[in-house]
Parts: sequence; structure tokens; C-alpha cells
Amino acid sequence: MSTSTLRTLCSKQISSATFRPNLSSFPLRRNFSHTATRTFTATARIMADSTKTKSEEEWRAVLSPEQFRILRQKGTERAGTGEYDKHYEPGVYECAGCGTPLYKSDTKFKSGCGWPAFYDAIPGAVNRHEDSSFGMLRIEITCAACGGHLGHVFKGEGFPTPTDERHCVNSISLKFQDQTE
Ligand SMILES: [Zn+2]
Repeated sequence: MSTSTLRTLCSKQISSATFRPNLSSFPLRRNFSHTATRTFTATARIMADSTKTKSEEEWRAVLSPEQFRILRQKGTERAGTGEYDKHYEPGVYECAGCGTPLYKSDTKFKSGCGWPAFYDAIPGAVNRHEDSSFGMLRIEITCAACGGHLGHVFKGEGFPTPTDERHCVNSISLKFQDQTE
């Protein structure tokens, strides 16, 4: 785990001194997303770590094409476009693939990165994997129940949260349930 790699990566995308979204200042991330789409599609792999895992054919049948691209082929939605990027209602964010609760709304914070950011997951709900694609060492996060790709977790960026971690999660990998349900 190279902390300096992550620091370099993150410092290009966000300033820890200001947390207000300003997408026009993140050209590197936008370029990265385009590259990621092509490469992740080519290197898709299916996790098989629980009874909630389905075959690729079964996932295609139950997910939208965009959900399939991100959850099962490890794609990335374009920054600032996700349904939950600026969503701060009280409730729980479940896995869009299998419905397992992953994140509580009280751990969500404004990162300004263009994707939903959480400082912690519900205990045991999320697995971490080293991801060395694109010449960077990052930590991929997946749903522990179905293996669906959620995003990446970044450490030590200086956000004023209890963990100093940022779970950078694709909105499309999540499904929000408000507290009354
Ligand atoms: Zn899942």
C-alpha cells in the first residue's frame, strides 16, 4: 500500500481545504473515467463470494445496462452525474445488485469529488481488494454479499471525519431507502 501514491492521486482531484463541489477543476478525473470505462469492460471479472452471486447472464437480466457495466464490470460513472452525489436524506444506502444495506446516511459527507462519499461502511458489508490497474495502487470496495463493484476507498486525505477515509462510491451501485421504510 503506497500512501504517497494515493495522496498524489487525491491531491490532484480535490483540495482538502475546501469541500464545496467545483467540477470544472477536476479535468484529470474526467479523463480518467473515460479510460476506466474502456479498460474495466475488457478486464471484467465476476466475484463469487456468496449465495447472492448470480451468473453473468442472470445479472444482465436483472440489472440495467449501466448497472451491469459498473457493478459487474467495474466501471465508473461520470463525476457529478450520480443520483446520490448531493443526496443527504436520512436513511440507508443498499447494494443496487442484491439489496444488502451498505452505508448509513449519517456517514455520508460532502467530499466535492463528484461521487457519493462515506467515511465508513456498515460493519462487514463491504470487502476491500487491492487494485493496481492504471499504474496506480488503489483499494477497490465491493459488496460483501454479491461481489458488486462499488468504487474505491481513499485514506489520509485530511477530511474532518472520524476515520479520515473516503469511500468513493458510484451512485448507480447504490439504492437509497429512507428511514420510514
Ligand atoms: Zn450486493
